[in-house]
Amino acid sequence: MKPFTVELVCLFCRAPLQGKEGATYASGDLIKCMECGEDNDYDSLLNVAKEKGVGRVKKEAEKQIKDELKKLFKKF
Ligand SMILES: [Zn+2]
Repeated sequence: MKPFTVELVCLFCRAPLQGKEGATYASGDLIKCMECGEDNDYDSLLNVAKEKGVGRVKKEAEKQIKDELKKLFKKF
């Protein structure tokens, strides 16, 4: 499966979030949005990203299954 990235966006204004360079965030942290200045809760961001990620994985998997089926039918 192709690697994919899930963009983290501000929960308030939907601007892409950029963490401080080299900074790592953990559960319970707040990530300040550069655009609107709101603090985004790490855990909420993670949940949103996870949901998005799941959707993309499903789509990708569906596509691959369809491609495989096409190949399968070509053989016969
Ligand atoms: Zn924002």
